[in-house]
Amino acid sequence: MGIQFPQPRYMPCTDCGAAVERASTDEHVCDRARLIDYQMFQLREDVAGVEGEVGAYFDSPRGRFELWWAERERRRSGEE
Ligand SMILES: [Zn+2]
Repeated sequence: MGIQFPQPRYMPCTDCGAAVERASTDEHVCDRARLIDYQMFQLREDVAGVEGEVGAYFDSPRGRFELWWAERERRRSGEE
């Protein structure tokens, strides 16, 4: 004897997170703004992680050197 989970009437769209009626999942078209919003929400932790890594990198001696070098190159090309 297994546990019967109630079947929810609405399912979240796996792409945009919108609540879609089970019966009409085939008709669902993702709203573009919502899709982007939802994906940004899911990426938010990854983005924060990358920002942290980049921040740590530019805080290291090598990162500071690269920043200095990039700035120097930028100025040099601006003079020509
Ligand atoms: Zn959707």
